[in-house]
Amino acid sequence: MRKLQRDSGMSVLLITHDLGVIAEMCDRVAVMYGGRVVEFGSALDVFDRPAHPYTRGLLASRPRIAAGADWLSTIEGTVPAVGQMGAGCSFAPRCALAHAACTSVPPLHTVEPGHQTACFAPFAAVASV
Ligand code: SF4
Repeated sequence: MRKLQRDSGMSVLLITHDLGVIAEMCDRVAVMYGGRVVEFGSALDVFDRPAHPYTRGLLASRPRIAAGADWLSTIEGTVPAVGQMGAGCSFAPRCALAHAACTSVPPLHTVEPGHQTACFAPFAAVASV
């Protein structure tokens, strides 16, 4: 794929749940939840300083052999069924940081140059867990 992309000068769009493939192949990443982009930025920024609670949960659930744990971390809850999304932030039922403002849909806003998140929580991108 890299050779094809380089030789043709075209962009490649990968849609995957495999974070390892993303880290290896992608320059820019859009994290989606409930049909919306909730975080966007360079792969380096998103992996090193995730800004959205869903992105942080995804990264925290990566298997880490060196950690020696017997089980994987998970994100509590499940993705709502199509047509059953709430009116506000679609991640709110699973988010430990949910608060009153989250009953509205959060727009993407910049947390650092080239790095955006759709979250009302007043935090900046932080180093990965
Ligand atoms: S907008 Fe609110 S509910 Fe949604 S991810 Fe941010 S803190 Fe959580």
